[in-house]
Parts: sequence; structure tokens; C-alpha cells
Amino acid sequence: MNYNKNKITTIIVFILTMSVFIFTATIEYNRNYQNSIKETQDELYHIKQNFENVITARMIAINGLKAHIELYPNLTQDEFNYFARAIFASNYDVVQSMSFVTDTTITHIYPYDKYKNVIGTDLATKQDQEKWIEYAKEFKKSIITAPVELVEGGNGIVVRIPIERQGEYYGQASIVFNYDKTLEACGMVDFSTNNFVELEMIDTLTKQNNIMWNNFPDNIKESKEIVFETVDLYDSQMLLQSIPKNGFNGKSILFYLILSIGWIISIIASLMVYKLLGTTMSLRDSKKNLVESNEELEAYVNQLKANEEELHKQYEEINEKNEYIQFLADRDYLTNLFNRRKFTNDLTSVILTKDMGTVLLLDIDNFKNINDTQGHHYGDKVLSHIGKVLKNSISETAVVYRIGGDEFAIHLPKIIDNNIIEDCMTSFFEALKTNNFIEQIKNNITASVGIAKYPQDSISADDILIKTDIAMYKSKEEGKNRFSYFSQHMIANFDNLIKIENQLQDALDIGNFKLVYQPIVDSGTGEISYFEALLRIKDSFLSPAEFIPVAENTGLIIPIGNWVIDEVCRQLSVWRENGISLKPVAINISAKQLYEGTLTQYIQNALKKYDISYALLEIEITESVLIEKSALSVEQLNELKNIGIPISLDDFGTGYSSLSYLTYIPFDKVKIDKSLKDKFLFLENFDVMQGIISLSHGLNLKVVTEGVETLEEFNQLKIHKSDFVQGFYFSKPVEADKVIDLITKKYI
Ligand code: C2E
Ligand code: MG
Ligand code: MG
Repeated sequence: MNYNKNKITTIIVFILTMSVFIFTATIEYNRNYQNSIKETQDELYHIKQNFENVITARMIAINGLKAHIELYPNLTQDEFNYFARAIFASNYDVVQSMSFVTDTTITHIYPYDKYKNVIGTDLATKQDQEKWIEYAKEFKKSIITAPVELVEGGNGIVVRIPIERQGEYYGQASIVFNYDKTLEACGMVDFSTNNFVELEMIDTLTKQNNIMWNNFPDNIKESKEIVFETVDLYDSQMLLQSIPKNGFNGKSILFYLILSIGWIISIIASLMVYKLLGTTMSLRDSKKNLVESNEELEAYVNQLKANEEELHKQYEEINEKNEYIQFLADRDYLTNLFNRRKFTNDLTSVILTKDMGTVLLLDIDNFKNINDTQGHHYGDKVLSHIGKVLKNSISETAVVYRIGGDEFAIHLPKIIDNNIIEDCMTSFFEALKTNNFIEQIKNNITASVGIAKYPQDSISADDILIKTDIAMYKSKEEGKNRFSYFSQHMIANFDNLIKIENQLQDALDIGNFKLVYQPIVDSGTGEISYFEALLRIKDSFLSPAEFIPVAENTGLIIPIGNWVIDEVCRQLSVWRENGISLKPVAINISAKQLYEGTLTQYIQNALKKYDISYALLEIEITESVLIEKSALSVEQLNELKNIGIPISLDDFGTGYSSLSYLTYIPFDKVKIDKSLKDKFLFLENFDVMQGIISLSHGLNLKVVTEGVETLEEFNQLKIHKSDFVQGFYFSKPVEADKVIDLITKKYI
């Protein structure tokens, strides 16, 4: 459709452009045409003038003749010759003859010799000349006639000039012009080479046109292009008509040039227009496409926007869920405090800002007791309670985290001042004291705290936590319910503890423990009453004083303690098999073993397994069991006592040395620690020692004094009635196979 439109437009442009050039060419054609006509006209005019000149130039001599005749009417031939020669002299060729007619008869002629025979001819008798003669005579007017059949033969142009004398017609002079030569002389013959030309004589008398000369083809006179000129001579008129043989032509080089250039320019213009239209069309198409694309784009953008909104919605939902997940991920489900993960993240970011601050690690003392005695559910409530108290009692800038079972961390950003740190702890412990009822049960909750600061102690969150742990461990070691600031020297201790832990674990795994036996001597008889089993790690100088606390703190004491029970029973069975008279063996039991609640059962099973009597076993527990007063521990001790196993209170004098708990724990013996013995056995403080022994006896308890190294000490103790004695003076702890060497020994 558009393609056709373009074609039509292109054709119109071609036509319009071509029209301009055709119009211009037409103007050029017309100009040339008119020029051509004018040229012909000019030529004709030139011929006319030549014709007139040829004729009239011969008239001058006639005027002289006229004057002569006026004076001398009897004109002789000689006189006539004189005038005639003047006419001929100018152009002999054109004038054929000259004559004088007196009245109507030829009386003189020139050239005489050639035409003298016509003298005497009365022209009035000549039919074809009569009327002209009469006309000149009557009207006394010059007249030209042509073509005239001449009396001397041939055709001619005859000019007749009437000559008067005294006002009366006298005669007439006539000049005969050679027809062909006259026409040639006025240029008509040359002119006729390229033009059709005609000379007509308009007869003055008949008013008829007589053709004097022409080369016109048939019908040429109908052409409107014929140009003409009138030749006026005296009273005669001649019509000169002409038309170029090829017609009038306006087609010049310029005309063709205009047309050619017009043709080329029109083609170029139309092609350009076609191209332009094509370009416009394609531009229009492009624009259309662009608009369509734009619309599509808009639709696409709208779709995208819709998608974006949807995505945004989903993103927000996901974000909300993520936040919730993050919330959950960062939270401790039990206390709703932040958890260890959050602690690590928070601390890492803060440390990166090169800020300073303090981290406190709180480990609830003996939390296991609560769990064991009140159940886990209650334990959870206690933890939750502690969490709340922590949050409410410390400053708002402090952040509290629960990072493990009974471990809490407090982060004090920007605070490193010990006074502020300790105020923070004090307010927490005070709050715990005033809020010590949880579900109607009173709890005396204490905690061991480790404190580390950044960046001075470390610049890594994990490392800070390890360091607070080391410091916290120190607090535990020093008796719990206290705080310790981390210091570099703790690292060595701690590293050592880790080594010990590894050693213990290895010893457990590969059976690298062994028991040594130290005799306990009856002060009265000097005989070995029983043995105390003391734990050793094979091929190691590590003493139980070092590794037992580690075993207790790491929980390894449970399997180790069980191994000891088994080993003692096994050893007793071995001795029995070896025929050795068996003596009871005392086993050291850690407080932690009692908290487990399965100790009684375990001992019973072991005894049963090796078929050992209850009477061959004793247990020793330290004061710490009593400090961390636990119903479960008391219950178990009673059970053991009931099945017949004696119980000793070990290391008396190192702790609180309170005898109040002796009233509800079914002890059989009190073992006075070496340190107490060293302090009070001699000098003026001796009565303290004696008081303790007397008091124990008053409570129905036997007394064992440890660390007896000299006879002097032994004697002294005997005096003060220590029932039993134990020490290097009697024997160092010995390997099982050496027991046989001791068994029969008597130390008194
Ligand atoms: P303990 O129960 O009071 O054991 C007596 C400690 O005193 C032993 O140290 C023993 O070698 C040491 N001793 C005995 N006589 C003398 C003496 O004349 N001079 C000196 N200087 N020391 C003497 P040992 O074997 O190093 O044990 C240390 C502590 O480790 C024990 O104190 C006990 O509390 C604990 N222990 C040892 N074995 C076990 C075990 O199997 N289980 C548990 N739970 N604790 C154990
Ligand atoms: Mg002991
Ligand atoms: Mg002891």
C-alpha cells in the first residue's frame, strides 16, 4: 500500500520536475522560434529593401529625362541614349531595356540596335499592355507591372513613369527590368535555397494577385507560419512571402540541453524522493516499531514492577522469617537470652572496631546438684530464673548471653574499670540472694566467674571466651563463689590442666592406671588395720593431688572412680586367691561420684562380681562433699553405711573443719589431715589437736592421723589417742604385689 503510494508520489515528483524543465524548454523553444521568424522576417525585409532600391535607384535618370522633355519635346534617340546610359551604368545586368513612348507608341529605345524593331509599336494596341499604358496616361501615375510578356520577348518587370509637358500627358518612359536578374540582385534567389519564397504582384488595376516568382510547394500557403513583407513602389504593391523549407524551428542546443538536464534532474529528484519516502517510510515503520517496542517494554516494565512488588513482598516475608530464624538462631530457647553464636558474632564485630571492653563468664556452682536433686525440669527453671535476674540486675549497656548449660557470659562494652566490673557482679549476686525462691524452693545460688578484657587479653572472641574460662576455672579451683581476672600465668596452669586431662583420658583408654596401697596402722597394736588405695598413672610422676581435681572438673572422675572400685575388688580377689589374709581397703570417693546417684549400686555390683565382702571395703570422702550439701549424697552415704561399708571423713582440717555435719552424715572415722597434724601436734597448740580427737571420740568416731613420718609423731599421737595412724613412717604407698611384704608387719 505504502509502496504504491511512494511510487505515485515519485512519479508526480518526476512529472512536476520535468514540467518545470519542459516549461523552460518551451520558453527557450518559443524564443528560438520567434528568433527564427524574426530572422526570416528580417531577410524578407532585406529582400524588399533591395527590391525597392533596385527599382527606385533607376528612377533618378528618369527625372532628368522628364526635365529634358519639358524643355525639348522633340527628343532624339541620341538624347534618349544619354539618359538611358545613366540608368544602365549603375547596373546593366538588371535593366534589360529602356524605352520612351510618345503618347502610346514606342518612339525611343535603348539599347537601340538590339530592340530598334519595336520602335513605332503602339502599345495601346497590345492587349496585355494597353490598360497599363492607359492607366499611366489617364492617372499620370507611375506603375509597375510584372510579369509582363515583353515585345522584345521574355518576361520582365516593367516600370512605367508618365511624363507630362506643361501639365498634359506627353508620353511615358518605361524601364524593363530583367526578371531573373532583378530577383537575384535583391537576394531572393539565394534566399530561396533554404526558404520557400514567393513574390506576388498586386495588380493596381484589377486588384488581382499575379505570382511573379515562387518556389512554394503545394498547400504551403495554408501554413499559418508564413511571414510576409509588402513592397511599396509608387502606386504598385508587391507581396513577399516566405517560410523556411524546414519550417520555423525553436529547437536550439540549449533547448535540448534543458530537456536533457531536466530529464536527468527529474530522474535524480524522483529517485531521491523515492529513496526519501522509503527512508521516511522505514523511519515511520521504525517509529511504529519503536512505539510498539516501547509499549511492549512498558508492559514488560509493568510486569517487572509487579514481579518486583511480588518479590519485594516475598522478600519481606522471607526477611521476616529470616529475622525470626535469626532471632531463634541468636537466642537461647530456655532463658530467651542471646546464645553463644550471637556472643561470638557480637564480640567479633566489637573487637573489629578497636574498641575495648570486658567479658565475664559465670559458671553456676554445683548446678549439677540442683538437676540431680530437683530434676532437670526444675534445673531449667533455675537457669531461666538466673537469666532474668542477670538481665534485670546489671546495667543496660551490658549484654547477657547463655553460652552453655550453666554458663552465662556478660559483655560490658567500653568498660575495663575493675570497680565497675565488680559492681556489676555484686549487683547480680545481691539480686540472686534477694530472689532466691524458685517455685517455693530456696536456692543459695553462687557462681564462679572468670573475667577477661579486650583487647588487652585477646582480640578474638573465641580466645576471650577461653580466657574467661581459664579465669573461671581458677575461681572454681580456689573454692568457687568468687571471681578471677584472667592473667597470662594462668595459661601455663591451664595448659597443664589440659595436658593432664589428655593424660587421664589416655590412661582410661589404654588401661594405664594403677593403684598403690598404703597401710593404716592401729596405734594400739602397731598392726596394719587396713589399706588405703591411692591412684597412680603408670610411668608418670603426676600425683593424684594434681590430676584428681582435673578429673573431677572434667567429669572423668566418674569412669576413673568406677575403675578404682573395680580394681580394688579385683585386687582383693587376687590376694584372696593368692592366699593372703585380706585386710579392708579404703577407696577415695569424689563428691562428683556421689552426685551421680549410682555409686552404691556400682559398689554393690563390683563386690558381687568379685565376691568380696562389704566388710573389706571402706570409703573416704572429703569435706567438699559436705560443703556442697546434697540430699542425694547424704542418701547414698546412708545406703553405703547401711550395707556395712564404713565411711571416713578425709582431709579433716583443710576445709571448714566444721563438725556440725557429722551429726547427719553416718561417718565412722575422721582422718586428720597432715597439715592439721603438722600445725597442732607439737608446741603450745597441742590441745587443739587433742580437742579434735576428744570431740570425734565423743561423736563415736575413730580418728586416723595422716602424714605420720616420724616415730616421735607416732608416739605423740599414741599419747593423744589417735586410733589409727598413716604415713611414710610406716610405709609409703606400695604396689599391690608388695602388699604381701607388709601385711604381717608390726610397728610397735
Ligand atoms: P588422701 O586421701 O588424703 O591420701 C593420703 C595422701 O597422703 C596420699 O597422697 C599419700 O601418699 C599421702 N601420704 C601418706 N603418708 C604421707 C606422709 O607421711 N607424708 C606425706 N607427705 N604424704 C603422705 P596421694 O597418694 O598423693 O593422694 C593425694 C590425694 O589424692 C588423696 O589424699 C586423695 O584425696 C586423692 N586420691 C588419691 N587416690 C584417689 C582415688 O583413687 N580416688 C579419689 N577420689 N581420690 C584419690
Ligand atoms: Mg584418702
Ligand atoms: Mg587425706
